[in-house]
Amino acid sequence: MRRIYLDNNASTPLDPRVAAKMRDLLTAGDGNPSSLHAFGRALRRRIEDARERIAGRLGADPAELVFCSGATEANNLALYGLAAAAPPARRRILLSPTEHPSVLEPAGRLEKQGFECIFMPIDECGRLRLEESAALLGPDVAFSSLMAVNNETGVVQPVADWALRCRAAAVPLHCDAVQAVGRLPVDFGALGVDVLGFSAHKFHGPIGAGGMLLRRELPLEALLLGGGQERDRRAGTENHLAIAGMALALDLATEEMAERRRKIEDLSSGLLADLRRRIPGLRLNAEAAERWPGTLNLRVPGARGETLLMRLDLAGIAVSLGAACSSGALEPSHVLAAMGLDLADNLASIRVSISARNDADELEVFAAALAASSGSR
Ligand code: PMP
Repeated sequence: MRRIYLDNNASTPLDPRVAAKMRDLLTAGDGNPSSLHAFGRALRRRIEDARERIAGRLGADPAELVFCSGATEANNLALYGLAAAAPPARRRILLSPTEHPSVLEPAGRLEKQGFECIFMPIDECGRLRLEESAALLGPDVAFSSLMAVNNETGVVQPVADWALRCRAAAVPLHCDAVQAVGRLPVDFGALGVDVLGFSAHKFHGPIGAGGMLLRRELPLEALLLGGGQERDRRAGTENHLAIAGMALALDLATEEMAERRRKIEDLSSGLLADLRRRIPGLRLNAEAAERWPGTLNLRVPGARGETLLMRLDLAGIAVSLGAACSSGALEPSHVLAAMGLDLADNLASIRVSISARNDADELEVFAAALAASSGSR
């Protein structure tokens, strides 16, 4: 059966050029990058070369980059670190309600440790309401967190504008930029945030490598202690192979960014037009907002997203749900709920995420399969 992968916000396929490079490197050096001998030094060079390239691509200083296993770790590290570094008078955390669980759950744990989470107001597309949110900034705020691009809807948040306001109030800002890095230009210096997380497998790099950019003057308490790696900010022997793969994936993503985006835009608008022809009443959630074009959060009136996902899976097509299945029960998407969708609309939604490795033929097969699965032709 032909398999069609339309779940690129969950993970993108490894770029064959990155795979080839990693295959070569796999057997091109043994040892521990922290060792002082020649074996160690060769691996250290591999890591530091990757650090310079990645930091350069993201408008950061190499000393500001902390390698880690991915964005879940980066986000946890950022939140716990920012909380630990906050003065005792600053106990409030300002978050958007549409953040990823790797931000929401550490924030929930911090609440048990005496912090208070405040969800900032958003509009019906999930975009931060800047003026109203700014009214929440004050001397009692420990830090804020705002994602760059939402993983379920593709909605782009006004991060640079929010960063200006946070800075004026001396509130550190964390940004989960997982769905932006490698897809949209991200310049850490210009964006004005204090901590930013990203992950290689969202831009055709390997799973298991990610990074955190951290403004040098910001104090941040490490989660992992031990060997002093990453300037004491993340102990543990570095995954030099995945780090080298990530550097190449980001080089390629940056060089090909405009071309990839154009292709994704064409595929996405063609798919949407096709779906609208085939499925009467089909809606695009958060349509009115500025969005990453590769993410289509589709609502098929009267359908169950879960049923659609299973039928598509049987046809060899991979999409996803914002809703999460926990202990056998389907929990509606917290993102769509925060945007004000009612339960039926929430559960009638599926997420299609396109990469530049998809083609128009695949999307036509998907459109026909979705129409058939939802009872339309
Ligand atoms: N944040 C967002 C917005 C994401 O989409 C993801 C991946 N689903 C993560 C964080 C977690 O990243 P990782 O898979 O690298 O742990």
